Amino acid sequence: MIRTLALTACVAALGLSAAPGRAEEAKNVILFLGDAGGVSTLSAAGILENDRPLSLFIQSMPNIALSDTSALDEWVTDSAAGMTAIVTGRKTNNAMVSALPGAGGQAVPVKSLMEYAEQRGLATGIVTNMPIWDATPAANYAHVARRSDKTEIFRQMLKPRYGDGVDVLIGKGRADADAVMGGDARKAFAAADYSLGDDLSLVAKPKRAAVLRDADFAPMPALEATLARLAKNPKGYVLVVEWDMHTDDPRAGLRHVGEMDAMVRRAHELAGKDTLILFTADHSFGLRMVGGSRATPLAQQYEPSDKSVITVERNHTGEEVIVAASGPGADKVRGFMPNTRLFDIMLSALGWKRDE
Ligand SMILES: [Zn+2]
Repeated sequence: MIRTLALTACVAALGLSAAPGRAEEAKNVILFLGDAGGVSTLSAAGILENDRPLSLFIQSMPNIALSDTSALDEWVTDSAAGMTAIVTGRKTNNAMVSALPGAGGQAVPVKSLMEYAEQRGLATGIVTNMPIWDATPAANYAHVARRSDKTEIFRQMLKPRYGDGVDVLIGKGRADADAVMGGDARKAFAAADYSLGDDLSLVAKPKRAAVLRDADFAPMPALEATLARLAKNPKGYVLVVEWDMHTDDPRAGLRHVGEMDAMVRRAHELAGKDTLILFTADHSFGLRMVGGSRATPLAQQYEPSDKSVITVERNHTGEEVIVAASGPGADKVRGFMPNTRLFDIMLSALGWKRDE
């Protein structure tokens, strides 16, 4: 970063503009992860909400690619292997969280982008509408062989390998935290220097914050509070926002797409131009739009029990998912790519090199 500034100053002193095509570094990275947000789900959600195609903000982002999502051991990934590939750059077996299969069934940890950020003193945050220990958020801070190992995931959340741990944790799972920590998680979180509560006002305070609830919460206040907090760090930040958009319940899943899309738009308003913003999915899902007339708003035509407009096969599917990007480093998001390349794109945008 200092080198970049020195070069920029030097170039300016010579009265030259910056060399064309020279990659600029990002100070911050925001990764929006639409869990199960395949192209067909995004498309249907946008038309259902706005009655026109290409109405999502995500669909206006300048750089896109299609990302393979296969796991190391199977063609169709779960969230654990899917998120591991994106945040560590390594494909692993389904159910493994930021860990690779090693000799004798051992799980070998692999360092996540958020751990690189913690090691370098950047601010870090996770916002999710799922339990904070679930596979997708956990891949940022924990390394376990089995995604169901809730106790170990919470233990690692409070005992980080790098830095002082994730600065802002917002999600569900308060009852889970209490259950694995002897009935009341507050003491364990306090011992790890966290304030634990259900009120977003904790995020504005200097202490690291875990806002864990068991009910749904409004996405925008959580995003805004987190961005305001993380932006205070002069070194920058890495923020991961996961919004579940599985369409087992199609109405809820499709509504979640609109919620995340609004968050992606808001992040573009709030974050500086030195922020790489990405949207992708860990895997696709078996939702398809198969009908619908333009004469009537789709929301009036669509009944989940009626299979003439939208059908849902309730399973993850193996086709590529979209990556949309803007900001420094976004120009590398193009063509078909393995999901692991997202890690390299984020790491190099921040000016870092892989060290394991
Ligand atoms: Zn998933």
